[in-house]
Amino acid sequence: MICLGIEGTAHTVGVGIVDEQGKILSNIIKMYRPATGGIHPREAANHHAANIAPVIKKALIQSGKKIKDIDLVGFSIGPGLGPCLRTVATAARALALSLNVPLLGVNHCIAHLEIGKVITKASDVVLVYVSGGNTQIIAFSNGKYRVFGETLDIGIGNCLDKFGRILGLSFPSGPLIEKMAQKGEEYIHLPYSVKGMDVAFSGILTATKNLIGKQKPEDLCYSLQETCFAMLTEVTERAMAHTEKKEVLLGGGVACNKRLQEMITLMARARGAHFFCPPPSLLVDNGAMIAWTAVLMQRGGCHMDIQDTGVRQNFRVDDVEVIWKDVITTRS
Ligand code: AMP
Ligand code: MG
Repeated sequence: MICLGIEGTAHTVGVGIVDEQGKILSNIIKMYRPATGGIHPREAANHHAANIAPVIKKALIQSGKKIKDIDLVGFSIGPGLGPCLRTVATAARALALSLNVPLLGVNHCIAHLEIGKVITKASDVVLVYVSGGNTQIIAFSNGKYRVFGETLDIGIGNCLDKFGRILGLSFPSGPLIEKMAQKGEEYIHLPYSVKGMDVAFSGILTATKNLIGKQKPEDLCYSLQETCFAMLTEVTERAMAHTEKKEVLLGGGVACNKRLQEMITLMARARGAHFFCPPPSLLVDNGAMIAWTAVLMQRGGCHMDIQDTGVRQNFRVDDVEVIWKDVITTRS
């Protein structure tokens, strides 16, 4: 079975083609980069509408498959920005209807987790999902994927991007902040905001912003990373202790950050746990993760009529019936 998956929850439109073993035949992304400011949902949706057909074509060429070889279409049904979700859903419906193949709407956060598992061969993970809009610690427990900790305000990537914008860096600023942080020499005290199992970033962002001009930018980048990543490492460790899981997996664009990887690795090692991290092309938003999760869903017996494929902007992982879990267990 060959599945084509379309991602489009926020800034990135992506198309991936996978087979039923999880082999990635192609994975093409195109990212919307605002000229100034942050992501404007309508402009991002227009970007996706303009790019979806060429991205599908490129993905087909890279995979060596023809459009008639596609047996299943998956798309990111949520959570995400309404205009972006609706644009991509429309394309996915049109494609599935024209090919007369099944269509499955995939939860974006679960897709990050499933692609990480199949690529790294991990089996029962705590996922640290750190992206622009999302920051959640997710694990399977009592029949569902559940959120064990999350941001109470903005996503970690959004925090880094906003700080970078004020420093005059281009979007996305996360990788540029990482480079500047490597030159940081002094840790500047910033508020550390862990509330139970949750984290919050907007206060730290304001505090760091207020120090611009008073401290070296490199030290601010370094201190912002150290503080936010330490918070994430703390709640991840607590989730691992609570769930008694011995595997930790990274997902989301911020997981490209080497310092975050190092902190989570050290924590895992100290607990005798295993650390897993997919390559950057599968950490960022991408179509392959949507395609692979659609394959799992279909193998588990999931079916959606076209009228069930309305987008879900606030789709939570614990709203998903994980009917494919046995399929995964048998495979791994
Ligand atoms: P995603 O939303 O998962 O596609 O990831 C995009 C987010 O990841 C943006 O907020 C980027 O700034 C952030 N990001 C990408 N690479 C890095 C990095 N090396 N360090 C920190 N953040 C990063
Ligand atoms: Mg994402």
